Parts: sequence; C-alpha cells; structure tokens
Amino acid sequence: MKIYLDGKLVEEKDAVVSVFDHGLLYGDGVFEGTRVYDGNIAFLEEHLGRLLDSAKVIALDIGMTQEELIAATVETCKANGIENGYIRHVVTRGSGTLGLNPYLCKKASVIIIVADIQLYPQELYENGMRIITAGTIRNMSEALNPRVKSLNYLNNVMAKIEAINAGVMECLMLNSQGYVAEASGDNVFVVKGNKLITPPTWCGALEGITREKVMELAREMGLEVSKTVMTRYEIWTADEVFLTGTAAEVIPVIELDKRPIGDGKPGPVTLKLIDAYRKLVADDGIRVA
Ligand code: PMP
Repeated sequence: MKIYLDGKLVEEKDAVVSVFDHGLLYGDGVFEGTRVYDGNIAFLEEHLGRLLDSAKVIALDIGMTQEELIAATVETCKANGIENGYIRHVVTRGSGTLGLNPYLCKKASVIIIVADIQLYPQELYENGMRIITAGTIRNMSEALNPRVKSLNYLNNVMAKIEAINAGVMECLMLNSQGYVAEASGDNVFVVKGNKLITPPTWCGALEGITREKVMELAREMGLEVSKTVMTRYEIWTADEVFLTGTAAEVIPVIELDKRPIGDGKPGPVTLKLIDAYRKLVADDGIRVA
C-alpha cells in the first residue's frame, strides 16, 4: 500500500511520523473519512472543506490548498488502484517539543491513506441495528466545538468501548444536559409522521456530510426536516430511528437499551433513504481515473 505523506507517495513501512508529533502527543490535529465508489470520490470537496475549516479553528496551517489536496487524494487512489474504498486524511500539528506550545512544531504533516472499507454487516441494513445509551457524556460543545473533526476522539472511543462491551456496535451519546448528541461515530435521526429531526451541532453533533445529504434527500421526498433539540423521549416515541455516516451510509436502528423503536423493524422512510443515498453516491463524485 502506498501512503501519501508530506508531498510524497511512500510505502506503508516508510509512512512514519515522529514520536514528538503533537498529533501523537496531544491529539493535536484534524482528520476526515471519505469514500470512493466505483472510482468516484463522493463529496470530496465537502470533506476537504470541513478539514480546512477544522484546521483553521485550531490554528493549524495545512500548507496545501483545497485543489492541491484534491490532486493528492486522486493521486493516492490511483497509486493504490483503489476504485472502492475508504480515504483517511490526517493532518497533524507536526513534530515539536514535549511541551504544549504548538508554535514550536515545525510543519504540519499531511497524510492520506486509501484502504478497504470496514462495513457494517449487510444484515444490519436489512434487519436494523441494536444500540445502547452510553454512560459516557459527549464532550461539552462550549469546550471543544463538535464541528471540529479533531484527532481528539477519546470521548468517542470511550463510548465505543461501552457499546462493544454491551454486545452492540454503536451507541447513543447524550450531552451534559441530557439532550441527544449523536452516536460514537455517526449522526442520529428520528422519524415521526412526516417529520425528520436530527440534533443541532450545539447539542454535541458533528456536522456530518452524510447528515447534510440525507436532509436534502428527505426534503426532496416531501418530509419536514429540521435540526431540533431532542431527548430520549423522541427516540422512545419515534416511528423510526436511523444513523448516518460516510462508512455507515444510512443504517436503521431498531432497538435502544433493549427496548424496541417503533415496531422494532426498519421503517419505510429509512429504507427509502438508504436507496436514495446509494443512488446519490453512485452519481456524484470526483473521478479517480
Ligand atoms: N459523528 C461523528 C463523531 C463522526 O466521527 C462521524 C464520521 N464518522 C459522523 C458523525 C458522520 O459524519 P460524516 O457523515 O461526515 O461521515
């Protein structure tokens, strides 16, 4: 596998960063996860836009324009002959001292990895997923804006540990006020009648690219879509619940904390959105070859 590292394509064994990199020492950096479908990189501009914005918020100079990042991404996909897979962009603060001062880090490291994608089993798309509510509270959005997709993912990792220990693959995260934020690596949606709601970012949700696309598709289907504050009341009384994410796409949730959601089966709105989203990613995207 060839990895893009600081302007060059290198073999995996040579794709290494310093132990003094603040990405490693402090989680000081940003990242993105993007998918390539049949040679089309889906929503690459949106993902790179979010990467650049995240970097700007943490005062990290990536040292590359969006166009240069697009070219490097296409080059990395081509070099690996990958037409279907997952692209990870990582930008670290770079090598510095053991102290916190980011201004002592010489130069940001830009890494692009193109790999096979780890998908949820197909069975979960057909029959739905069971999740739990994590005891781990979502980071306070006033402390670390959830719109910044930073390398600080411990909050999510701790929630994921709870999910796996409970025998499920995802979990619902609440914020410190008890409002629903998102899942550990996906956004959450509730369907009730003709309404589709998802929590606003200030509740602790990442502004997911899939979330935005799904909201557009749902509006086209005639649903009334909004970003609305919700508690688990909305989940318990929902007709349908589903999660969205680049890797997950749209995936139905049929149970929370061993209690069924709606009639305990994937609902018609979710199934329609799964199809519509798959059609959208098949049509959209920047060509690899
Ligand atoms: N929330 C979190 C915490 C995430 O890490 C992700 C990405 N895996 C998402 C939501 C979904 O975002 P996107 O649709 O942009 O992949």
